Amino acid sequence: MGNKPQKSSFMSKKNNWHERWLDRLPDDRLFTRLLLESYREHRWKYFAASGAMVLVAVATALSAWMMGEIIDTLANPEDRSRVRLIGISIALIFSFRGLALYTQAVLMARAGNRIVAQKQKQMYDRMLSQGVEFFNDKHSSQLLMKITQSAQAARSIIDSIVSGFAKDLLTLVGLVGVMFYQQPFLSVACLVVVPIVLFGIRKILKLVQEVMAEEMGGLAEIIKVVQETSTGARVVKAFALEAQMTDRMDDAICQVEERRNRMTQLEAATMPLLDIIAGVAIGLIVILSSVSIFGQAPGTPGQLMSFVTAFLMSYEPANRLSRMRVVIERGMVGVRMMYKLLDTPQTLTESADAVAMPDGPNAVTLSNVSFSYGKKQRVLKNISTTFEAGKTTALVGPSGGGKSTLFDLLLRLYDPVEGSIMINGLDIRTATFKSLRSKIAFVGQDTFLFTATVMENLLLARPGATEEDAIAAAKTAHAHEFIEKLPKGYDTQIGENGSFLSGGQRQRLSIARAVLRQAPILLLDEATSALDSHSEALVRDALETITSGVTTIVIAHRLSTVMNADKICYLEAGQIVEQGTISDLIAAKGKFNDLYDMQYGGKETGE
Ligand code: ADP
Repeated sequence: MGNKPQKSSFMSKKNNWHERWLDRLPDDRLFTRLLLESYREHRWKYFAASGAMVLVAVATALSAWMMGEIIDTLANPEDRSRVRLIGISIALIFSFRGLALYTQAVLMARAGNRIVAQKQKQMYDRMLSQGVEFFNDKHSSQLLMKITQSAQAARSIIDSIVSGFAKDLLTLVGLVGVMFYQQPFLSVACLVVVPIVLFGIRKILKLVQEVMAEEMGGLAEIIKVVQETSTGARVVKAFALEAQMTDRMDDAICQVEERRNRMTQLEAATMPLLDIIAGVAIGLIVILSSVSIFGQAPGTPGQLMSFVTAFLMSYEPANRLSRMRVVIERGMVGVRMMYKLLDTPQTLTESADAVAMPDGPNAVTLSNVSFSYGKKQRVLKNISTTFEAGKTTALVGPSGGGKSTLFDLLLRLYDPVEGSIMINGLDIRTATFKSLRSKIAFVGQDTFLFTATVMENLLLARPGATEEDAIAAAKTAHAHEFIEKLPKGYDTQIGENGSFLSGGQRQRLSIARAVLRQAPILLLDEATSALDSHSEALVRDALETITSGVTTIVIAHRLSTVMNADKICYLEAGQIVEQGTISDLIAAKGKFNDLYDMQYGGKETGE
């Protein structure tokens, strides 16, 4: 029965040689992989942008060369036709350069923005298709950082490489060409200093990479603290944790500030290095230009001007090229993070030949189901039972017995390690997620509400439901009364996780969602927190309405629920130790009977 490892949607579109090749790349070849992926997707934009950049490089070299022509022409203004030719050429070259710069900037930005968008989508899809255990050991701020920052890093690397090679390198070659053409000996002298500069910069690169990784960690901590302050505002206030939170935040902010300063210091150190060398070199050029070297007469003023201009203009592309590695090293931290998320194996996937869950009476049968979280101890051991169609089964037993875990397996948030769960005779692992989940509604203890209106939160329960359906469901769940009293009724915006609603109100919204879902199987985790008696009565009434005729499995905390159940399963340490009707279990005088006497005291507790 199939829980075969699946190709992700991102991988399954593979149909040409690059994609097959990408698959075979080992992890440390991320850089090549990133370039190949971007090449595959955006080659035409990059070719066009590179074309424009070649034109920029040519125009830049020409403009340096023209400076010499201007000087020599102005020294001889009587030659009117030459003056005109030079004037028109200058205008054309600069306009040409402007247009080419514009074209390459637009094309590069489009390709870059598309890369960011695509990578973010891929990362989010990957994250969304992970099983819940993926989220168990990760703080949401980590994921937030990955999705928002790492795609940008990928983009900056590609931008830097494409413009580095197509624009800066060619521009540099053009300008150096002009330098050699005008003053070969001075050019050789200038080029001697380049290796010295590169050596200094290389030293700095290693440090930048280390600091960058630390800065990312600091940023993640800031996001984490803000998030925890926002979601845990009540606890923070109630336990007067403000001082600790401020300390944590201060630490994180200071850390990032320090790292940023250090990074800027390192990066900025590469600039004055080039500045000093440029200044010294130009000074020497001026001095050397007045004397003849190796018997060569000094050049014309025009040649010298052209040479100095080319030399100065080469500073910028040379500087960017020398920093290209910094940009790449820095970006690779993010790219590594991105691919780590994209390559996280999926533990819970839909079988390739998954079928729709068949219709039927909707009984749920567990045969020899065992489960453990990761490699830990079994939390469910060899469970076999049937939750009968249209009946209510109550799960009772001590905390930690595995009741919630059993629900998670029924919802297929995890797969059993052994055994199988069948609905209408079909193993749920062979059903499509969509059809399985459409069979099941879940009402939990804490109702997660999205930051949206009440109506939008309700309509999420069933795609295609109308607003009338939602209102009818809210009426059944006794939620309509309080929703109407909200400032904007059904259009009231619910803040992050519905903070202004009471426990009872949130529960009734959750029940309304379950009603709207119209699922034939209902999983109900009864609230343990005490509700006020009015809310309690409304919730109970609503639950009675929705459970009738539906296969209901309830984690029961109230005696009334246990009393009304058709069957009781007593779960302890991952095993069903007793099951039957309430009278069977009391008569058996076993564990349930003890719990019944002790916890419920034989009377309604309202817990
Ligand atoms: P109950 O709902 O009956 O209180 P649970 O199903 O919540 O029991 O827990 C059963 C056991 O599984 C407990 O020992 C609990 O510590 C463990 N457990 C629950 N969730 C996880 C998890 N995400 N990772 C590891 N262990 C877990």
